[in-house]
Amino acid sequence: MKTVVVGGGVVGLTTAYELASAGCEVIVLEAAKCGAAASHGNAAKIAIAESNPVPAPGVLLQGIKWMLKPDSPLSIRPSLAPGYLRFLLRMALHCNARDFETGLDLHLRLGADANELFDDYQRSGMDFEMHSRGVLLAFETGERFDEHCESLAVFESAGHIAEHLHGDAVQAAEPALSDRLKHGLFFPGDRQVEPDSLNGALLAKLDELGATVREGVSVNRFVRSGDTVTAVVTDDAEVLPTEAVVVAAGVPTGELLAQLGQKLPIYSGKGYSVDYSPPPVELRTSLTLEDARVAATPLNGMLRLAGTMEFGSRDDRVNEVRVEGIRRAAREAFHSWGEPEGEREAWAGSRPMTPDGLPVIGGLDIACNVYVNSGHSMLGLTLAPGSARLLTDIMLDREPSLGPELLARVSPNRF
Ligand SMILES: Cc1cc2nc3c(=O)[nH]c(=O)nc-3n(C[C@H](O)[C@H](O)[C@H](O)COP(=O)(O)OP(=O)(O)OC[C@H]3O[C@@H](n4cnc5c(N)ncnc54)[C@H](O)[C@@H]3O)c2cc1C
Repeated sequence: MKTVVVGGGVVGLTTAYELASAGCEVIVLEAAKCGAAASHGNAAKIAIAESNPVPAPGVLLQGIKWMLKPDSPLSIRPSLAPGYLRFLLRMALHCNARDFETGLDLHLRLGADANELFDDYQRSGMDFEMHSRGVLLAFETGERFDEHCESLAVFESAGHIAEHLHGDAVQAAEPALSDRLKHGLFFPGDRQVEPDSLNGALLAKLDELGATVREGVSVNRFVRSGDTVTAVVTDDAEVLPTEAVVVAAGVPTGELLAQLGQKLPIYSGKGYSVDYSPPPVELRTSLTLEDARVAATPLNGMLRLAGTMEFGSRDDRVNEVRVEGIRRAAREAFHSWGEPEGEREAWAGSRPMTPDGLPVIGGLDIACNVYVNSGHSMLGLTLAPGSARLLTDIMLDREPSLGPELLARVSPNRF
């Protein structure tokens, strides 16, 4: 089956890999450069321990309270973008304990094979940077720790057991942390994957499998015959005939599919990262400083700090005030942080967010050969291999790993 994949982020590239491995003729069309959007500077975590959906009890209320705090980790900016207010209102409806727990369970199922799939990638010859350092979620207060523990039963029922640490045990697990951090949950199974190296390895593999990858080619519209899309048309008016289309375009996915009459509310949740090479502190584990909501991930020869969720942004400009909030979290958490040298230019990227916090994986009811793989919000790197496998199963009529009820919960037709 000849398939055009729109978007060369980690989700588009893993999907292209699964389809090409299954014998499809694959063409990836990427508007800019593959792996250069949200899939570039993310926190590099295979974050099973952080599979919580964004809409959680109290989250939007907290965002509204922080509206006037320019360096807060969560920000809701006013915006006149069409549909944005509706998106927030819909998200507010999902900020309850029941939706949060069922969403978490669904994420854990989608990510259940993540480590095995990354191992399979390496076994197939893909060469990328991966570590198995686990993750320590570190807390300053007992209240935040207790709050977090409320969701642990869902993790435990999926087989992810956290070690509970208090007092000196936190510093014993991660000696770089100051005694400001008093509580911790250590999940030993979480991994770290440097995203650029993964995207590079996927591109090399796609080349080996005979797939075509074209960069600087933006899909502008679709040619339709009845309920079938027969071609995509690029910004340069090039018409590319195809038998199937997968839209994995990150935040613009919704806008692109609106042309087919498909409602898909995907909006940006902007985040920031800043790299240090050499690393100012040598970390034993990967960390999340839960009070500041900042991730610290040790990678080869460097340390990456990442954080912030900013709704309502329409670009990837770096807001220095928010980056300073991230730096301050590190200064306060690590006792030997000092004045680090080797700070690289800060980066911002737009996570594709949905109002229910769940990804969008599946085929459209209104166009029988158009499929979507997007909306992975904070978990795109973690869930990319599982989502790519799932969508390929759906497209090729193989038995999918999720049953019909769960497939309906990630379907693009649910909105
Ligand atoms: C600060 C930060 C930290 C994060 N940390 C983690 C983490 O530790 N672990 C994790 O799992 N996830 C993390 N994420 C989330 C993760 O990075 C994203 O979910 C993921 O990268 C989304 O991948 P994608 O392929 O869907 O989108 P993108 O990477 O945005 O790719 C979409 C691509 O589509 C292209 N495109 C758009 N429109 C068109 C068009 N019309 N024609 C052709 N091409 C088009 C774009 O140019 C782009 O390259 C983080 C995100 C941020 C911002």
